[in-house]
Amino acid sequence: MSTESVAVVGGSIAGCAGALAVSRSGAEVVVFERSTVRLQDRGVGLTLHNDRYAELEEAGYLDSGMPWHRLARRPWVVRDGAARTGREIGVLPMPFRSYNWGSLWEELRGRIPSGVEYRTGAQVSRVRESAGGTVVQLADGTEERYDFVVGADGYRSVVRDAMYPRTGAEYAGFLAWRGTLPEGMLPGPPDAWPGEEAASVGFPGGHVLIYRIPGPGGVGTTVNWVFYAVPPAGTASRFADPQTVQPRIMSDALKRYQLELVDEHLPPFWQEVIRLTRPEDTFVQPMYDMVAPGYALGRLVLLGDAASIARPNTGSGAIKALQDAAALERALLAHDARQEALAAYSAERMPVGRATVELGRRLGRAQVTETPDWQTMDQSDVERWWLEAAGTQGFGGHALRR
Ligand SMILES: Cc1cc2nc3c(=O)[nH]c(=O)nc-3n(C[C@H](O)[C@H](O)[C@H](O)COP(=O)(O)OP(=O)(O)OC[C@H]3O[C@@H](n4cnc5c(N)ncnc54)[C@H](O)[C@@H]3O)c2cc1C
Repeated sequence: MSTESVAVVGGSIAGCAGALAVSRSGAEVVVFERSTVRLQDRGVGLTLHNDRYAELEEAGYLDSGMPWHRLARRPWVVRDGAARTGREIGVLPMPFRSYNWGSLWEELRGRIPSGVEYRTGAQVSRVRESAGGTVVQLADGTEERYDFVVGADGYRSVVRDAMYPRTGAEYAGFLAWRGTLPEGMLPGPPDAWPGEEAASVGFPGGHVLIYRIPGPGGVGTTVNWVFYAVPPAGTASRFADPQTVQPRIMSDALKRYQLELVDEHLPPFWQEVIRLTRPEDTFVQPMYDMVAPGYALGRLVLLGDAASIARPNTGSGAIKALQDAAALERALLAHDARQEALAAYSAERMPVGRATVELGRRLGRAQVTETPDWQTMDQSDVERWWLEAAGTQGFGGHALRR
């Protein structure tokens, strides 16, 4: 293939990895990121399965210089009288690395080759194909022409809109309240909660997952919690349309509702962890499901959340985006014709997106909307329940084809 010009719309995790992928295939790349705020300040956690990490390290998308925290066990606990950290009903393996979203993004951004132009404050309002190229229209009205366009612009993707106009994300019926606090603010004693544990507290209608991540900039240690529950009746219409929802905004009513659930269902230690979190370090995310009908069409291709959105219960949103990029690079290098490369990429990655979204639906039911009677469960019940919900593979991502 002769040197092609490529626009990557979105400069988050998928966008950085996508820019790396396409530039490694020999193309000239411009990244358009609409945000002007520092993406490295988005400081919540995400997890990467150890096996998936190893594949992506080999593919050159992750490396040991990126700050991470080791996780190993996932105890499931329930409230039990005054027991400070609750009663453990069972333990599942948790062979994951946890990352600080902001520092992971910063590391990925730093690995984009200097020849790639990364523009901030550059909002793409529309893309359209025209004879022999693709036109990217910016919010300021200017237009630029590229050989093809990579949509790494998240769940409200304008690139996906140009490909498949009516493929919206579907509200999953529950929310994740999220928060972080410095490890030093944990209520004592310091060994109440071992560092390698991703604690899960189950309650009727939801659960909370709490684990440590690297601190801001990869320095120190931060505690990250994700509290899943169905919001109060009558709020569904507020979250139904991802195009109109105000992402990350936590109303006072939603905050109050979460704290009522916390007081009712969490053991004292975990109540304190959530109550100690500063309001400015909390936000709320509605959960959505979506798979695009194809990952490539004409001169347009999708990566990451623009291509498919799975609930974070799958522990694989970032893995999926990074794998998409690695697969795109492989396809571009393996085929002489771009169209064949993009078709091969779509054929490889769309089934993975579908399977991940389906796993998210099952885990959402098992852990939030149709929770079991945690109080009566023991280790073998927990193992059986997990196997029914998660199966034997897919939690933390599917293996990357090499
Ligand atoms: C704070 C945070 C925490 C997360 N935690 C978890 C987790 O714990 N577990 C998990 O599995 N997943 C998690 N995720 C999701 C996971 O990070 C994503 O699935 C993965 O990183 C892929 O995201 P993305 O880059 O495709 O989309 P996004 O992160 O949504 O990035 C899209 C980017 O495109 C830009 N953009 C959008 N539209 C335009 C436009 N028109 N023009 C220009 N730029 C545009 C946006 O500003 C944004 O930077 C989290 C995401 C965030 C943001």
